[in-house]
Amino acid sequence: MKNVIDILEDLIALPSVNPMGGSDSAPDLCGEAKVNDYICDFIGKIGLKPFVQETALPGRGNVGAMLYKGANYKTIILQCHTDTVGIGNNRQLLRPVRKDGRIYGRGACDCKGGLAAMLAALAQAAENPEKVKNNIIVMGVSDEEYSFKGSLALCEQEPSKNAAFGIIGEPTGCRIVNGFKGVARWNASVTGKAFHSSEPEKGVNAIYRMAKLISLIEKYQSELESGETISVGTVKGGSAVNIVPDACTIEIDRRLTKNTSPEKAFKDLEKYLSRNLDFNFSFSDLKDAQNAVLVEPDHPGVRILSEICTDMDIDGTPQQVAFGSDAYRMDAAGIPTVLWGPGSIAVAHTSDEYVEIGQLEQAVQFYYNIIVSRKL
Ligand SMILES: [Zn+2]
Repeated sequence: MKNVIDILEDLIALPSVNPMGGSDSAPDLCGEAKVNDYICDFIGKIGLKPFVQETALPGRGNVGAMLYKGANYKTIILQCHTDTVGIGNNRQLLRPVRKDGRIYGRGACDCKGGLAAMLAALAQAAENPEKVKNNIIVMGVSDEEYSFKGSLALCEQEPSKNAAFGIIGEPTGCRIVNGFKGVARWNASVTGKAFHSSEPEKGVNAIYRMAKLISLIEKYQSELESGETISVGTVKGGSAVNIVPDACTIEIDRRLTKNTSPEKAFKDLEKYLSRNLDFNFSFSDLKDAQNAVLVEPDHPGVRILSEICTDMDIDGTPQQVAFGSDAYRMDAAGIPTVLWGPGSIAVAHTSDEYVEIGQLEQAVQFYYNIIVSRKL
């Protein structure tokens, strides 16, 4: 049986770039098919039967295995996404490098490290089926980085749709993450009046107006409750240096706690700007609206994880994070889901992506302990 390091190195070498509706990576690098074939093959070799869930994306399904205990047992899902972000022209990212107690490569921590650890834990469990205490699904899920078709299929199809609890192996540095900030994004626009730049006083400069609006947004941060943020990510305005610009648009990003819905964030900012500006502005519709999620720390699944942490002498205090994951979709579908995985989100999506081998090995033990833990 391969160990977790070998599995991860195999997975890194199999490109599974998410084409994201038009990618920077060559077509032969895109899609999860190669990783899916690997997972199917692995599951077969450990004596289990792989199953596939088709998604809305042709040839980009979910693959996994189930350890079935019985109809009277609850189901726990352990899942990692099989897609990665692009590699640009840097094919070196597909060649795993072992150095200084780390493994480097695209997907090392996001999320092939967690996936490798889950597969290694599944292999151990397959040898000890009598120790399994719940129905367990281990799943590679497609398309997490873009349109979430994998997790949507996971939540709609058998045997996963009625699961009682989920764990995703996103890189959390081996900490339990039970809270996910909400997000709201939209555009704000102002208009002005175009005129030749030799007589700017005869026009109305939309960029000057937007500069005032942006400085108000910067101040607005201090009005937000602790844990919430606002950020302006892009500015677009003007058509030529010799024309007073007549339009300017920005993109706004708000991160939210449980106390603020995306709709409330939108309306509150609208009120604040209206009070403080002497010109009109307009907002687009709300985009990427996502409520914050909190799985209660005393949820039976979280308690099991905390106990395992105590047994393994690692910090089991549940944390909250601001980055997105499939936990949003699973929680919305009625499957309370937390994150726990090896590696750091800070190096995910970078050309320096790596995972500590120590954390990878700890993750195998942790996931195995979940599979053989008490009845949920
Ligand atoms: Zn990820």
